[in-house]
Amino acid sequence: AKDCHRGTAICFAPEHEAQLRSHAVIEQALRSADLETEFSLVYQPIVDVAEDRVDAYEALARWTSPTIGTVSPGDFIVVAERSGLILDVTRALLRRALADMATWPAEVRLSFNLSAHDIASSACRADIMEIVRQSGIAPGRIIFELTETGLMRDLVDGRDALTELKALGVGLALDDFGTGYSSLSYVHKLPITKLKIDRSFVTNICEDTASLNVIRAIIDLCRNLGFDCVVEGVETVEQMLLLRSAGCRFMQGYLLQKPLPRDEIEALGGSRLPV
Ligand code: C2E
Ligand code: CA
Ligand code: CA
Ligand code: CA
Repeated sequence: AKDCHRGTAICFAPEHEAQLRSHAVIEQALRSADLETEFSLVYQPIVDVAEDRVDAYEALARWTSPTIGTVSPGDFIVVAERSGLILDVTRALLRRALADMATWPAEVRLSFNLSAHDIASSACRADIMEIVRQSGIAPGRIIFELTETGLMRDLVDGRDALTELKALGVGLALDDFGTGYSSLSYVHKLPITKLKIDRSFVTNICEDTASLNVIRAIIDLCRNLGFDCVVEGVETVEQMLLLRSAGCRFMQGYLLQKPLPRDEIEALGGSRLPV
């Protein structure tokens, strides 16, 4: 970015641009955003490597604002949470994802990210349940993903909210597992069905046997507690092979597939495995 002066305009690398668009600017654009046209969903497969099939697609939100351009979910979700707009975003995106599922094979599930703010609101929980009912999609085909950081602000409330959702028949995944603190002290107290091991554990497994041992330990933990276990952020063949030899069955990451728009995932067929 240093050599980037042109006339009086100064160019910024994308990471600087994101900082320039302060939360206030993002919030203003979000308040006037048309959720139906400015937001879209892309889908990334969670692959069962034992059976070489797609177990689920995770829906990931994308936003391009006509006024401030493309904003990453890492930025706009935080702003949406702080401003209370997340509930509207969640409802609109959940409706869309469930509609998109209409053309998927019945054995393929949807993994959908919820914010802790969503489930903290009993009105929003009720809406979520109503949206699921109205979609006609079997609740057993839906997994809601929640991050531990959000959930753990209040363990008891979080647990009760999850219990209410789970009664609908959906699966519940604890996302980014291992990035919060004291995960082990409460993980067995939550009504979850799945853990997603954060990609930071995967990054170094080829160089660092300790990281692989941590993943092995979490896989063991999941087996003992009866949880499914997904490893996120698998980017290389070497990582995939090591993880497979460590007993990891469900994987997600750029190696298997990047997140793609609905129409592009539908066109995919055949093996998911690069080796
Ligand atoms: P997440 O739920 O942990 O989603 C995984 C993120 O990792 C996604 O980023 C995905 O594109 C990225 N990813 C997948 N495979 C790889 C890989 O192999 N390597 C690397 N480096 N990254 C990989 P994305 O789409 O930018 O989303 C970021 C976060 O924003 C998500 O993290 C999630 O916490 C949040 N988010 C996205 N969509 C929604 C949504 O609809 N609702 C809510 N509440 N949160 C969302
Ligand atoms: Ca997720
Ligand atoms: Ca994650
Ligand atoms: Ca994350």
